[in-house]
Amino acid sequence: MNTDSNHEIKSNKQYNPQMHSAEHILNQTMVRMFNCGRSFSNHIEKKKSKCDYYFDRNLTSEEIDLINLKVNEVIQQDLFVKEEFYLKEEAEKTFNLSRLPGDAGDKVRVIKIGEYDACPCSGLHVTHTKEIGTFRIISTDFKDGVLRIRFKLINE
Ligand SMILES: [Zn+2]
Repeated sequence: MNTDSNHEIKSNKQYNPQMHSAEHILNQTMVRMFNCGRSFSNHIEKKKSKCDYYFDRNLTSEEIDLINLKVNEVIQQDLFVKEEFYLKEEAEKTFNLSRLPGDAGDKVRVIKIGEYDACPCSGLHVTHTKEIGTFRIISTDFKDGVLRIRFKLINE
């Protein structure tokens, strides 16, 4: 564990493990539904977040409903979120490591959300998916080959 970077993350008030965990589930849902890549760029904040995907069009309202449904289905399963460490050369065979910081060392931390998703990540996450709350897409738009999804979490 790199405790220095953890401390940095925790001291950032905007950092929200619920939102961050929801991003992992949204990405896997997009990959499964559309066979696209995970978001190449995102902005994750407590109130609302956005993820950008390389795509060929905007989403229909039926597709948005289906994504909401699927992400919330995964959250409601209350899956266990755990970290596993892989040697970098092992991780490279399975994962895209290009978004990890260059100084990550020779071990790669992979976050697994039940059997649903596995993704290299150095951030902070919930331990069970129900902690995330209810996922809701606020809006989507499409421009120049990029689909942007804005979403929020509702916690009662
Ligand atoms: Zn993460």
